[in-house]
Amino acid sequence: MRAIRLCAILAWVGSVSYAREPATWTAARAQHFEVYSDAAPETARSLAAGLERLHEFIVRQIGLTPAPDRRVRVIAFASAGEYARYRGNPAAGAYFVGTGDRDYIVLPAPAGTGLRFAAHEYAHVLMHSGAWKLPCWIAEGVSDVVSTVQFRDRESRIGGDLTERSAALKAARWMPLEEIFACKSVSDSLFYAESWAVTDLLMFSPPYGARFPALLAALASGVGSERALREVYGVPVAVVERDLRARLARGAPAVPLPPVPGAAAEVHVAGLTTFEARALLADLRFANGELEVAESLYGELARERPSDPEIHAALGTVALRRGNIAGAAAAWKLAIDLGITDAALCYRYAVLADERGLPARAALERAIALRADFDDARFKLALMEKNGGHPEAAIAQLRAMREVAPARAFTWWSALADALLSLDRRVEAKQAAVEARTHAGSSEERDHAGQLEWLAATELAIEVDGGNVRAVRVPAGAARNPFIAAGDRPRRVEGALREVKCGDGTIRLVVDTADGRLSLDVPNPSRVEIRNGAAAAFEFTCGLQEARKVVVEYAATSLVLRGLELR
Ligand SMILES: [Zn+2]
Repeated sequence: MRAIRLCAILAWVGSVSYAREPATWTAARAQHFEVYSDAAPETARSLAAGLERLHEFIVRQIGLTPAPDRRVRVIAFASAGEYARYRGNPAAGAYFVGTGDRDYIVLPAPAGTGLRFAAHEYAHVLMHSGAWKLPCWIAEGVSDVVSTVQFRDRESRIGGDLTERSAALKAARWMPLEEIFACKSVSDSLFYAESWAVTDLLMFSPPYGARFPALLAALASGVGSERALREVYGVPVAVVERDLRARLARGAPAVPLPPVPGAAAEVHVAGLTTFEARALLADLRFANGELEVAESLYGELARERPSDPEIHAALGTVALRRGNIAGAAAAWKLAIDLGITDAALCYRYAVLADERGLPARAALERAIALRADFDDARFKLALMEKNGGHPEAAIAQLRAMREVAPARAFTWWSALADALLSLDRRVEAKQAAVEARTHAGSSEERDHAGQLEWLAATELAIEVDGGNVRAVRVPAGAARNPFIAAGDRPRRVEGALREVKCGDGTIRLVVDTADGRLSLDVPNPSRVEIRNGAAAAFEFTCGLQEARKVVVEYAATSLVLRGLELR
């Protein structure tokens, strides 16, 4: 939701007129774009088809790829006046704005099938969504070059003259290229013209073109422009400028490339209701950062349709951006209660609710129901289940995740180990703890994994020492009989129970062992550990026994019985 960035293409300035809200909007939805326009329905359709073709070209020929599952929303206003009401920079002939959720390209509806402004902005969208941190001159230059794409039946073309740019270069004294590279004077049309011309030279002119990807990589990694040119091409700025002037004087033709089929894109066209169109424009106000205007527009819509979950979701998003966290939580909760089908919003609400100590589980469950592969939601729910004492549910969520990103591998494995431990599944818990240790990123994490391993390898036992009872951890599977006292010198032997002698308040067991007959006192039957008994309680029956197989544990020092295992 942050990272709003505006980029303007300097072109003509349309006349501003505050026309009434247009009545009919059309949506044209294709694989990578949803184009909305209040111009003729054909405008939206042909723009969507043209952009799909451009997308195909850019992916194939330039290697810029968009973020997956992210459709670009394009809004093409029928009139320049309407467009002018939505642009921040009065000199911008088109602009793109990215929010956390969505990228927008906003422009006046192009005349005919012209893609130029849309193409320029789409190049920005791709660089932005690919998180390329490029200096603004090369971002503008690449966008301008992309805007020159032409599609023909047997070939596509890119490059060649951009007449108003080259005219600007002929008419004025150039800014020094060092100033262009420093991105000074970005509101000057000469800045755009020079940025375009240098980029065109670097992309297509024989001595430079082949190493252009290396230049882009260097610039994206933060190397300064002049240094990058020197390192990649081995030339100083003065040589670049000399070559640039020569290229402009010669004129460089467009570069022919293989054709991109035009009819391939599937475009679905549908009309928008007035309500939907108003929501669309409120969304755009929000994307532009006009939070108060957006809030008031959404407010009007919510009053008209109080049960529309999308509008409440939008109100919550605006509230959050305005710092009203309680308001955001309340609006999102309402959107969820009204049945919103936006998994990401359910998840965002759960995170916010959890931070505020509100119930978050239902929202996470909804997010997962809406999107089974929503790993973030499953991970959060798993941790919540584990901490809430539901280890089985936690394990189920952890194991249902599609992948575990390296950054959360330690937490994933240690949560799994922890949950398995709660279920006494020690062998699996130990394996998970060992995995957690291999993913530990700090000494604290390594210690924690070590602790889990130790817990998996040991179990809690009660030790009685005189009058003191304390809990100790002993190796798993070798739990100590809690009734064994200090100084007992405990012994364990197998034998056959012969007789239980009951006297005046005394009980004595007689057991035949391989080493002879043993007589063991039972001063207090409730202080004998019984194992494998069919019932939780065990009763001694006085008298002769049927040579029942037993294991007895006793104090060798006092011949007092401490444990009895029935075989
Ligand atoms: Zn631009």
